[in-house]
Order: sequence, then structure tokens, then C-alpha cells
Amino acid sequence: MAQNPVCKMMSVKSSAPFKLFSKILLGWYNANQRPLPWRKTQDPYAIWLSEIMLQQTQVATVIPYYHRFLKLFPDIKSIANAPEQDLLQAWAGLGYYNRIRQFQKAAQKIAFKWQGRIPSTKEELQTLPGLGDYTAAAVASIAFCEPVAVVDGNVMRVLSRLFCYSEDISKAAAKKYFQEKALSLLDPKNPGDFNQAMMELGATLCTPQKPKCLLCPVQKFCKARNQANPENFPVKLKKTTYVNEQLVAFVFQQNDAFFLRKRTTKEIMPGMWEFPLLPCPILKNSPSLKTIQNLIAKNHWPASLNSLIKPLKPIRHTIMNRRLKIFPFLLKTKKENKVQKNSIWISKRKLSLLPLTTITKKIQENL
Ligand code: SF4
Repeated sequence: MAQNPVCKMMSVKSSAPFKLFSKILLGWYNANQRPLPWRKTQDPYAIWLSEIMLQQTQVATVIPYYHRFLKLFPDIKSIANAPEQDLLQAWAGLGYYNRIRQFQKAAQKIAFKWQGRIPSTKEELQTLPGLGDYTAAAVASIAFCEPVAVVDGNVMRVLSRLFCYSEDISKAAAKKYFQEKALSLLDPKNPGDFNQAMMELGATLCTPQKPKCLLCPVQKFCKARNQANPENFPVKLKKTTYVNEQLVAFVFQQNDAFFLRKRTTKEIMPGMWEFPLLPCPILKNSPSLKTIQNLIAKNHWPASLNSLIKPLKPIRHTIMNRRLKIFPFLLKTKKENKVQKNSIWISKRKLSLLPLTTITKKIQENL
């Protein structure tokens, strides 16, 4: 079985007996892992970047961002020195923008405190902004071969099924339980691959619905499989409750130029640019033109002299527990209006130069 070259160099020693479980799981992982770009590198910076991007974002979405980001910002120094607008623009569309801000703060701390060398232990990594238990363990084990266990949502699901863990997984006791179980199974000689194998198993076979137990390499160890009820695990008593909201988006246009506002530091996603948005009551159909005119007049927006109002295709977007339905309206204005603070008139061609919110990007696709 191939061993991570960093682990080989470090000659990690362990008194723990080698577990059959780990051996089988790693064999399966070596033969079946998806060829993801961050698995082809030993560069701690690139591994760390991938872990930050993968938080709350699907693998398929992350891949093009990962390549583009590494080209623009290939190392700690380039991130530490980058203007925030450049970082936000490169991140635009990935969501959860606090991740990139924290990533930059961490890079600045590394440049200052460790002369650009990324710390190699979970303990040191956790002193950096934005690196919690999970990310610190992932970077320490994958990039530096530290024998620490990673527990994310996928791993929790696998472990809860392997051991038929019947308590609520949102409780603090569950986190401790899964940490201990993951550590007890971990192959200390190959912790990075082991951790990735557990996550890969959760992502590809031990899925929330219809797990592919017949293909699972560790099925003989799995209590839930033996009881024929894997989908009963993990136990989650508190379900996420979603709130439905509706918004109107105002797409002001003067000739080739569009009006955008910059989100303030008091809002989520500060520094991102968007077509102005306003909440509107939950409606079955698109708001009436009269409602739109009233909203524009109340907000003193530049197109109070609008000559044409055209509804665009409604879009849907989910942010955390908010399910949004957005009704965009194109408002063609007749003459140049004064630019307000934190706003800009910009040509369609140059829109992509700004860090745009995902909602704005979705609307832009229909222009
Ligand atoms: Fe998951 Fe099924 Fe494998 Fe058990 S046997 S770990 S439920 S995929």
C-alpha cells in the first residue's frame, strides 16, 4: 500500500496496533479515490486553501476556483499582500466570504510570526484565524502527517453507522464520541490518507440517503448495515428550519451601464457589489409595477426618472437557513444621475471585474 511521502520522511512511530479496518479502508481509497487536484500536491498552502474552499461548498464548484485562485495567489506572501477587493473578486460565487477574509488574516499572521512558514501541528494551526478543529486537523494530518483525526459531517455519518450511535449528533457529547472513535481507528502511519479515506467513504458510498453498502469496503465492521438500518443514522433531533423570503432586485440601466451598490460593513458579505435589493411581502406572483415604482420613489434611487420597467426571470437562492425568491426588474433610465456613495455605474463588460454577490451573478446571466 502506497504511503504518503511526507509520512515516510517523518518516520512516524506508533505503539497502536495496526487495525484491519484502516488497512481495508486505505486499500479501497488507494484504488478508488476521485482524482481531485488537491490530492496531487504536498504543498501545505494548497492543501489548506482546498480545505477552506471545501467548507460548505461542493467539490465540483470548488475545483475551478481552486485552480484560478492558485494561479492568482500561489503562496502565503501573495495572499498576505493582496488587496481585499482582489481576493473577494477571486472568491465571488463561492459564498461565505468570511472564509477568505480569515484566510488572509491567517496568512498575514504566518508571514509576520513564522516568516511565511505554515505551522505544522494542529495545536499551532488552531491559533490562526479561521482554523477550527476540523481544518487544523485536516491540514496537520494531510500536509504534515500529524496523527490527528478529522471529523466532519461525512465522517460523523460513517462513524454513527459503523457504531450505531443512537444519541443526537448535535450534542457536545457526540463530538467527543466521534473524535475518540475516529482516533481509535486512525492509521498513525498514514493519517492524512486515512482521514481523506473516511471523508471519501462518506461522500461517495456512505451517503445520507441510499448508502451503497454492497460496495462498501468496511461493511463487515458496520453495525447499522448488520441491523439493516443505516439510514436511521446519524440521529439528528433538531432539523434545520428554513425561512422563506422574497426580495425585489433593481437593475438600473443607462445605455450600456448598470448601477451597483457596495455592501457595507454592517451587512453580511461586506465589500461585495450587488444590484440593490429590497424585501417584499410573500407573493404568489411578481410584485406589480406600481409597487416597484413606490419602492423606487421611497428609496430615492437613481432611476426615479425611469422610462421603462421590465420584469426579468425570477431566481432562487439559499443562504444558510433563508430560502430566497428574488424578483429582478430591469429599469432603463433616461439620463445620467448623480453617483451615490458606495455605488457605481459600470458597463456590462466590466461587471466581472467587481466581486459580485451570487444573487447578482445569477441576475446578470439573464440580462
Ligand atoms: Fe456506510 Fe453502508 Fe458502509 Fe455501513 S456498510 S459504513 S452504512 S456504506
